[in-house]
Amino acid sequence: MDHPSRRSFLKDLGLGTSAFSLATECAQAGQMPGRPPAADLGSQASGPTNIMAIAAHPGDAFFAMGGPVALQVHLGGQGAFLSLSLGEKGSSTIAPAEYGSLQRQSAERAAKALAARAEFLNYPDGEIPESDDVAFAVCDLIRQYKPAIIVTHWRGSWHKDHRACYRVVDNAVFYAGLPAVQRQQPAHTVKRLFFAENWEDAEGFAADTYLDITPVFDPWLEACAAFPMWRGETGFRYNDYYRSLAIGRGCLSGFTYAVALMSPPEQLTRHVRAL
Ligand SMILES: [Zn+2]
Repeated sequence: MDHPSRRSFLKDLGLGTSAFSLATECAQAGQMPGRPPAADLGSQASGPTNIMAIAAHPGDAFFAMGGPVALQVHLGGQGAFLSLSLGEKGSSTIAPAEYGSLQRQSAERAAKALAARAEFLNYPDGEIPESDDVAFAVCDLIRQYKPAIIVTHWRGSWHKDHRACYRVVDNAVFYAGLPAVQRQQPAHTVKRLFFAENWEDAEGFAADTYLDITPVFDPWLEACAAFPMWRGETGFRYNDYYRSLAIGRGCLSGFTYAVALMSPPEQLTRHVRAL
């Protein structure tokens, strides 16, 4: 398997524009108000960068999006996990009210372990509305936390709450960046938006960014263990899946452990004067 073309393939994956630290920040031409700028032209860390994971449910926030958040905090940035719902209907043996409270406690414990904040909007599990009210509630939290980077769901999901979260975040990022949208906090432009790899959001997911999470692999897994569902108690082996996914993505990217992310198409557009 040590064929030259395979080696160069892996080298391209590992060292090209798609393998980098999320700390990259540089001003871009052609940025529209309320939209993230187009693609970065560099790929190396330039300093601490705040990050926010916005998920339908706490498990998605920590299992699928927790690696990038843990890494940015490790690099000196601030991290926040926002769950639109507590995922209170996710247990077949524990009543929603009690399970919701367990989910909240687990998220708070996991966030604390990663030196990040946990926020909740408490929309009913399975019934997260795709409304402007929700988008403005998320917009307000984006303006409060001022993340340079947001990680959220990809729209190709069989779960309706995940699809709703994708739409809500898209609109919330738009509203947050528009100065003409008057809220308590001033406008804030999110520089990068990424979609997380999630077993429930696999339709059409195409990784374009490989993030080295090796420095935070162990603490991230320990934080996830705050959730009973991490150990497979709701039927899916989250621990095995996300742990082995990070190993597999690491193999492809030349890192020990990695998380694969997907960008909105406009974020991959490059502005160059020569090729
Ligand atoms: Zn979910």
